[in-house]
Amino acid sequence: MPVYEFKCTKCGELFEVMGSYAEREKAHACPRCGSAEVKQAISLFSAAPPRSY
Ligand SMILES: [Zn+2]
Repeated sequence: MPVYEFKCTKCGELFEVMGSYAEREKAHACPRCGSAEVKQAISLFSAAPPRSY
């Protein structure tokens, strides 16, 4: 399952959201300060190396 990483633009908190593509498109609030002003950071899923075995 893909993991999306978000960064809060207010407090700088980094948090992960696990789920489908639809989950990524949803608005997420910062778990630390509750702000909805978050930006998506690097996707850990697409950054992971492909399994060759
Ligand atoms: Zn925050």
